[in-house]
Amino acid sequence: CGIVGYIGEQQAQNILLDGLSKLEYRGYDSAGLAIYNGETIGLTKAMGRIRNLEDKLQVRSLPGTIGIGHTRWATHGKPSDANSHPHMDNSDRFAVVHNGIIENYLELKEKLIAKGYIFRSETDTEVIVNLLADLWNGDLLATVQAAVKHLEGAYALAITSEYEPDKLIAVRYASPLIIGIGQGENFIASDIPAILKYTRDIYILEDGEMAVLTPDHVHLMRLDGTKIERDVMTVDWDI
Ligand code: GLU
Repeated sequence: CGIVGYIGEQQAQNILLDGLSKLEYRGYDSAGLAIYNGETIGLTKAMGRIRNLEDKLQVRSLPGTIGIGHTRWATHGKPSDANSHPHMDNSDRFAVVHNGIIENYLELKEKLIAKGYIFRSETDTEVIVNLLADLWNGDLLATVQAAVKHLEGAYALAITSEYEPDKLIAVRYASPLIIGIGQGENFIASDIPAILKYTRDIYILEDGEMAVLTPDHVHLMRLDGTKIERDVMTVDWDI
């Protein structure tokens, strides 16, 4: 339902929580964050209000300057802590948040289970992280491009990986996603209000497009890797 991503020099947790709260109007049943702490990806998620997630983070915060967040509107699998996003693969090397529906997830799930992957949730989304682990070839961008070829349906994705923690990857197919351009920091969001407090300079991704974000650069391309040149759009309205 709602996606936020941050890469930069500030602590990501409160920026992601703030972004998710700006997307609350869309409705949701659970929320979660995954933040890279310099060694591993920390994960916290909670069913119910963002407040419940904040309560968990009060007890144990997620340090780090690179992360992704999600508010979920369940389509596959009941609202629960386990079904909340982000989802991670069996070795906790990849984390993904997803808006939309993977229509062929059962078929993909069966193949992955046959290969020994264990599913921890009932979501369609979880096939994506296990697919990334299965297709991992030493290059995050190439692995994401190979994985999305297997997906049918609608997906806006934000992906982070312990293998290449210096970047975030955003993918859009039939579900909206934008990129916010800051100074020494960049953002991913499913809608503009999530990041308006931090930047007014955005790229709107179109279907079949993706972005690789580092703190200082945003590279836009089609899912097949073809580079895209696009003017930055400046948002001139307030929320
Ligand atoms: N289909 C996914 C799920 O049920 C994502 C739903 C959403 O867009 O929030 O977990």
